[in-house]
Amino acid sequence: MLQIEIDHLNKHYGGFHALKDINIAIEQGAFVALVGPSGCGKSTLLRTLAGLEKTSSGDLRIAGESVVNKPPRERDVAMVFQSYALYPHMDVEHNMNYSMRLKRRPKQEIAERTRVAAETLGLGALLGRLPKALSGGQRQRVAMGRAIVRNPKVFLFDEPLSNLDAALRVHMRSEIRKLHERLKATSVYVTHDQVEAMTMADHIVVMRAGVIEQQGSPLDLYDRPINKFVAGFIGSPAMNFIPAFVSPDGKRLVLEKDQDQSLAIGQHAAPRIPLLMGLRPEHLSFTGEKGNLAITVVVDAVESTGSMTFVTASIASQQVVAAHSGRPSVSRGSEIKLYIAPKNVHLFDAETELAIR
Ligand code: ATP
Repeated sequence: MLQIEIDHLNKHYGGFHALKDINIAIEQGAFVALVGPSGCGKSTLLRTLAGLEKTSSGDLRIAGESVVNKPPRERDVAMVFQSYALYPHMDVEHNMNYSMRLKRRPKQEIAERTRVAAETLGLGALLGRLPKALSGGQRQRVAMGRAIVRNPKVFLFDEPLSNLDAALRVHMRSEIRKLHERLKATSVYVTHDQVEAMTMADHIVVMRAGVIEQQGSPLDLYDRPINKFVAGFIGSPAMNFIPAFVSPDGKRLVLEKDQDQSLAIGQHAAPRIPLLMGLRPEHLSFTGEKGNLAITVVVDAVESTGSMTFVTASIASQQVVAAHSGRPSVSRGSEIKLYIAPKNVHLFDAETELAIR
C-alpha cells in the first residue's frame, strides 16, 4: 500500500521555482532518504509534506487522502528537526508529551505512552532533566521521543544527526534504523550525507536544483547511475571521471590522455564523441588481470586510515583516487598502473552527461 504520494508537485517562492514537478510514491513502512547538495530543495519538500510550506501546484496524499489543504496538525505526521526544537524550560518528560497534553488526552494514556517511548529510547533515567543538562545525543533522543509519543502515520526527519560528532552519528544512524524496524512507520529522512542515505534508506531520491535526478534502491543508484551527477554524488570517495573517446572503427574505448590504453567495447557510442569514463575508487586495483584496462599514473599522495588506503594519482593533469582495503606498497612520486575490469567502467556522454552504459 502507498502511504505517501507526491504527485506533480511544484513550489514557487515568488519568482523562484524551488521544486519542479516532483513525483515520488512511498510504500507503507518504507524508509526514504532525500539527498542532494545544499539548496537543492530537500528541506522544502519535507516541509511541504509536513504542511509547514504551502504547495504551488500538484497533489500530496497521505494514506490515500489529499493533505494539501490540511494544516500540519491534521496530517498525522511528526517531524524531527536538526535543531531538536526542545522547550528549554520543560523537562524531558514534558517535552516528550507536550503534544498529547495540548490535545488534552487522558492522563493515564499520556503517562503510558511517555513511559513506552522513554523505554524504547533509553531515556527512563532522564525524564526529570532539563534539555540544558543533556548531551547532544540525549537531546536528539528526546526529539525522537516527542515524535514517537504521537504515534504518527509518517515520521519526517530534517538532518537530525548533523549536530552530533562523527562517532555518535554512526551510532544514532543504526539506532534510528532499528527503531524504524520496530515501529514500522513510514519515514522520510533528509540528509546531504550520501553515506547516511546509503546505510539507512530502502529508497533514495537524489535531487539537484529542485529536480529529481534519479530515485531507486541504494545499490541501484550505485550500480546504475543515470548521469554523471548521480554517479559522482553516490559513492565515497566520489567516482573518478577521465576523458575518453571511441576509436574510429567504433570497437575500442581510448583514453584521451593515455592513447596506448584502450578497452574493447561493443557498439555503445558513435566514434569520436567526447566521453567520460567513470571509475569508482574501490574498483581501481594495483594488480591487473587479463582484459583489464591499465592506466599509467603518477602517485601524488598515499593516505591510510589503518584499514583503508587512499592513493591519489594523476594521469596528465587529471587526478584519480584509488581506494584499497589493504596496504599497497606504492610511494609518492612513483609511476604505477591502475587496473580496472571492463564491467566496472561507467561511460557518460561528456556533453549531455547522461550515462551511455
Ligand atoms: P540545505 O541542505 O542547505 O538545507 P536544501 O536542499 O534543504 O538545502 P532548501 O532549504 O529546501 O534546500 O531550499 C531550496 C531553495 O529554495 C534554496 O535555493 C533556498 O534559497 C530557497 N528557499 C528556501 N526557503 C525559501 C523562502 N522562504 N523564500 C525564498 N526562497 C527560499
